[in-house]
Amino acid sequence: MSVKKKYSKPFGNLNSLKTSFFDNNDGMLDMADGMADVLLMQPKRTTCKICGAKLGAPLYHSHRIGYIECPMCGHLNSECEDTDAFASAVYVEDDYSKNYSAADKESYIRRRDMIYAPKAEYLRDCLKHDGLSSEDVKILDIGAGCGYFVSAARQLGMTATGIDVSDSEVEYGNSMTDEPYLTHVGLTDSIDYIRNTDANVLTAIGVLEHLVHLDENIDAIKENGSIRYVFASVPMFSFSSCFEVAFANGYNRHTGGTHTHLFTDDSVQKMAERMGFEIAYEWRFGSDINDLYRFLMVSMQKNNNADFSRFFSDRFVPLMDELQQVVDRSDFSSELHFILKRV
Ligand SMILES: [Zn+2]
Repeated sequence: MSVKKKYSKPFGNLNSLKTSFFDNNDGMLDMADGMADVLLMQPKRTTCKICGAKLGAPLYHSHRIGYIECPMCGHLNSECEDTDAFASAVYVEDDYSKNYSAADKESYIRRRDMIYAPKAEYLRDCLKHDGLSSEDVKILDIGAGCGYFVSAARQLGMTATGIDVSDSEVEYGNSMTDEPYLTHVGLTDSIDYIRNTDANVLTAIGVLEHLVHLDENIDAIKENGSIRYVFASVPMFSFSSCFEVAFANGYNRHTGGTHTHLFTDDSVQKMAERMGFEIAYEWRFGSDINDLYRFLMVSMQKNNNADFSRFFSDRFVPLMDELQQVVDRSDFSSELHFILKRV
């Protein structure tokens, strides 16, 4: 079966301008540096997170951490392992939700409709192409957070529930809607949920890269025949990674912090094979150009050219969507959404 590909989205970059990343570069960088301190205390990674191949020397270093390209699947692995200790330090004890929590119901709905509704519509349209109507779709969303995606899917008439390890995000998400469709689970309980769900679509938006026990999650998906589709987005080894290497004083949101490994086309393919699935649909849109813009702006401001940075900004921002489209079509952009189908 050939993969149906879609590239970019309109106004992608303008929507993804996170002002805190600009205004608080140094604070965000400190946060990522603290996570790097924890990661560097973990054991050295000897095998690829996705395919298990033996790893060699780092391809490059960024923000003090070495990154190793898998010789088999190209997956970019940090030189140290993500462990339970790492996860409990960066996800649970450190209130991870603080960065993103919306202030009230209105902003919850705005964020849901702006960022998550297009993803839910994409899933609906692809499944419709496969002969499934919204009423046929039953979603289990893992790493659901505040439930933005679950809520967006339900808006479109799909059945959807979610699980997350963050008590505060689940509580917040459930308080935003009439029905409590989110459940709080422990760090390893998600595997039992996946084993036992009768959902036919498993969704994981920006989640797989954070799972310490990714292997067990992959096995659980493989073993539960109810799951016919997996819809996920993952961070990719991309131009964003390269820009971060060049700008040591910029906040490394992509290759750093909670991201200890990045996918490639081959490693996504490898992961699908391990699940017993094939890639059916791909939607590629990154924020590489937004990252480049942010690094240039931060650098100009740091070298006392704040006024000139606005001169630059006025000329550069209108080009960003088009530049990102070029990057997306190069298949080396920062994020990939994909739908896997059971073979
Ligand atoms: Zn590999």
